[in-house]
Amino acid sequence: MDSFLKNIKNLAKSRDCDCNFECNAKRFKQKFKNWTSGNIYVDEIIQDTQLSDHNYDSCVALEWIPYDRLYEIKYLTGSESDKVYSARWIDGYIDEWDKKNQNWERKGQNMFVTLKSLNNSTSITLEFINKIAAHHKIYGMTQDLETKNYMVVFDNKCEKCKYECNTVYFQRNFDKWTSGDNDIDKFIQSTQLSAHRNITEALEWIPYDRLYEIKYLTGSESDKVYSAGWIDGNICEWDSYFQAWKRNNKHIFVTLKGLNNSTSITLEFINKV
Ligand SMILES: [Zn+2]
Ligand SMILES: [Zn+2]
Repeated sequence: MDSFLKNIKNLAKSRDCDCNFECNAKRFKQKFKNWTSGNIYVDEIIQDTQLSDHNYDSCVALEWIPYDRLYEIKYLTGSESDKVYSARWIDGYIDEWDKKNQNWERKGQNMFVTLKSLNNSTSITLEFINKIAAHHKIYGMTQDLETKNYMVVFDNKCEKCKYECNTVYFQRNFDKWTSGDNDIDKFIQSTQLSAHRNITEALEWIPYDRLYEIKYLTGSESDKVYSAGWIDGNICEWDSYFQAWKRNNKHIFVTLKGLNNSTSITLEFINKV
């Protein structure tokens, strides 16, 4: 708690506004009465970032994002105390002040965002926020209404690439398929999570009913080889409009190599292929 309060005091130094124009801080201050996180420390952190934003146009402050403005909230990764989710944000981020409506104009409606949870509000320190800010644009904070955990809301970019690379899109679709086997799922996911720029490094789960004219070619009992047609063809790039993969080579002929049990699917086996 001590370091939390110290952080607040450091930030609060720039709370005083001596701008001779209508800065963001003044606009935010007008709206303080319109929202609360329900927690004095969280309110203070958000207010401090707002009162320190003396820009006229581009906004750098955090805002309180009510949980019901987020949807398609999906667990991605992380342990009990430190979970990460993806979600979509109905309103999008503050772009600039709309003088006519005396309100914020927003961009990026229904955008994808990342949520990082904290199991208690006292662990929300500026240090924690700054660590995220080193890699991401932070938009604000919200509170999971079920667990009551506070969450930091930030962009959906890959930390390594600094943009929405293949791994981000693959991760978004983890809940849309399963092989029925946890180890195989994890294995395919790991190839997808390392295919940052090179899509050909990623494997995918191909439902058996997307294959046709399956013909036995050769091989022994434990190691049979078949040929087949593949209805969909391979993934080539992400289509942001349809939120789905674009594919090449529809109805391509592929080779299937059988495995007598799932534990024999190793990286070594796949690299050999
Ligand atoms: Zn100011
Ligand atoms: Zn990446």
